[in-house]
Formats: sequence, C-alpha cells, structure tokens
Amino acid sequence: MFPALLMAALAATPVGMPPVVDTHIDAPSLQVREWKDLLNTTDRDFDAPAATKGGLKVGFMSIYTSPTQDEQGTANASAHQQIDAMEALAYRAPDRFVVLRSARDYDPNDKRIALTFGMENAAPIGDRLDLLKVFRDRGVSYITLAHSANNRLADSSYAVDRKWNGLSPFGKQVVDSMNRLGIMVDVSHVSDQAALQAIALSRAPVIASHSAFRHFTPGFERNVSDEIAKAIAAKGGVVQVTFGTQFVNRKDALGLRDYFIELKKFKDGVVADLAAGRKPPKTEAEFDREWDAVHPYSPATVREVADHIVYGIGLIGADHIGIGSDFDGVGEALPTDLRTVADYPKLANELRRRGISDADIAKVMGDNLLRVWRQVDQLRSE
Ligand SMILES: [Zn+2]
Repeated sequence: MFPALLMAALAATPVGMPPVVDTHIDAPSLQVREWKDLLNTTDRDFDAPAATKGGLKVGFMSIYTSPTQDEQGTANASAHQQIDAMEALAYRAPDRFVVLRSARDYDPNDKRIALTFGMENAAPIGDRLDLLKVFRDRGVSYITLAHSANNRLADSSYAVDRKWNGLSPFGKQVVDSMNRLGIMVDVSHVSDQAALQAIALSRAPVIASHSAFRHFTPGFERNVSDEIAKAIAAKGGVVQVTFGTQFVNRKDALGLRDYFIELKKFKDGVVADLAAGRKPPKTEAEFDREWDAVHPYSPATVREVADHIVYGIGLIGADHIGIGSDFDGVGEALPTDLRTVADYPKLANELRRRGISDADIAKVMGDNLLRVWRQVDQLRSE
C-alpha cells in the first residue's frame, strides 16, 4: 500500500463502529515501571495498532498513584513522570497521536487518537489546592478523589475503617476548586457517603470513571448503587461501566471485597508482630500470591459487561452510561473476549445484539462522556 493510503487505513474508525471514548486506561503507570514501544504491537492491553483497530478516539490515560506512594511522598513526581511518558509517546508519532489538555482541544474531525488524562487518587496534589491547576494545565481532566485507602480527601470503598464519614473538609474544598478549574469529579473507588456528598456538592456533572453496577454484586461498595447512579444522572453526569471481572462478576467482586478485609487483618498482624519484636510470618507479596492461588478469576465474557450497560440504560437512561475499561489496570482479570483496546467493536456488537439502537450505542461508546467533559469545561471560571 502507498504510505498515504496506509496512513488513512490506520486512522480510519472500523466500519459501523462509533468513535470510542474510554475513561480509564492504565497504560501510564505500567509504562513508567516497564517501558515498551507502544507504537508497535505489544502484549499490553493498550498500544497504537490495537487502539486503531478498536476505533479508540479519546483515551483517558490513568495517572495512577497508590496509597503507598502517597505515604512515601512520591505520588507527585510519579504523576508528572506518567504524563511525561504519554507525551513522549505522542511526540514520537505526531501523525498518530495528539495530547488534549482540555475538552476545548478536542476536534472530532482529527483522525488521530487523542490522549488525555484522568488522575486516579488525588495523592499527587498532597494538601495543596494550587497543584490542581498545575495538573489541569497538563491535561488532567478528571480526578478520582481516593483509591484503595482513605486519603486526605475522602473515604475509600475498600477501606475497612472509615476516617471522614464521606469527604474531609479538604476534600470539599478540592471539589469546589475542581468545579472552578473545569476538572471532572470522579466518584469511582470512594465510599457511598463520599460519593453522595461529592455529587451533592458539585456544581457540575459528576462521573464514575470506571465502575459497574452493584445491582449485580450486592455488598460490593466499589460498584455504584442504584441510588448513586440516579444521583449522577440527575446531575447530568455519566456512569462509565468498567470491564474487569472483579467488578462485573459477582463471585470475583465479593472475592475482591474479602481480599481487602483479610489484607487489613494481615497488616494489623504485621504491625503487632513488629511491635512485639516478632518476625511477621510472610510478606505482603506472599500474602497476595497465596490469596490469588485460591481465588482464580471467573471466566466472564463481553456479555456480562453488556448486562451492566443494558441494566444501566434501563435504570438511568442511555444519556448517562459510558465505558471506562480499566485496560492495563487489572492484569488477567478481564473478560475472555474483551482483553485489549482492539476489542471495543465486540462490545458494540453485543449491545446491538441486545437490541440497543445505533444512536444509543454511539452515546454509550463515547458521545455521553464528550458531552459531560465539555459541560464541565464550560462551567470553569479559572
Ligand atoms: Zn481503579
């Protein structure tokens, strides 16, 4: 093929496939830990050839930092390094990628894959409100207030003990500042109380960047309850359904909930052992390996993901459902037929098979999120 034709073929969205906006792809933290050439085919969930094949239009690259990095004071540098890594990818292939720093940079006619950022865990700002603007200006378009532990802003759904009964006073200030800066508030991962307080407080629509529906996983607070989903929709926001089996599959979800309960007991035991001068029986990595060995993932398929989307459409309407895959963030815990960014068309096809109209599929696969992203940006005053 002539280079120009090859380029056009690479850039074209697959026939019959609506443009995809995925709000949660965990490529950056992996890339910083172990660099791979994402311009070529890799064993990762996200790389350029797979993204092109799957019709990815806007990928929100997850700037993830852990509670441990927060404790150690390395979250801020890690966040910048992750953004640097994605900029470097785009700058090496300006014909294939473009970095968007806000919704106003988005051009639907641009054939390139757009990369922008979602910050998972607000740890990189520490206790400094002024750092919100620094990250907004680098392209962080949403912030997940907390991750797997309570932090300065909010309680986590995974935390066994709750610190704030929702948002902290600082967390409330951050939500207010995010509204003024045009950064979307993301309530995935936080406790129910924190989510409901953030939604009530926000003057702009709120998202859940990568959550499934608790309806299918009773007792698993990490997924959104019907009440929270309705509150998000009432505010004009969107629930971005995630793909990992630990979220869409009941057995795996309850296994993940139990993991955090047992991990807390293990960590408390380590603290007690060290205080008493005893050697802990195993490391946390060993604890994790033993846990994984007796808790294999269920073989979920794209149909389970579609179940959540169809349920969500029934509950809050097709204007309020989207997708946030968690690709590159959950290891092997993905549906057997929904494993990389090349696989979005399989989800669209499954939704079509369920009788969802092409217009609604287009909303779910990307249009809804673009609407909310623009609205939040338009409400910004700084
Ligand atoms: Zn996550």
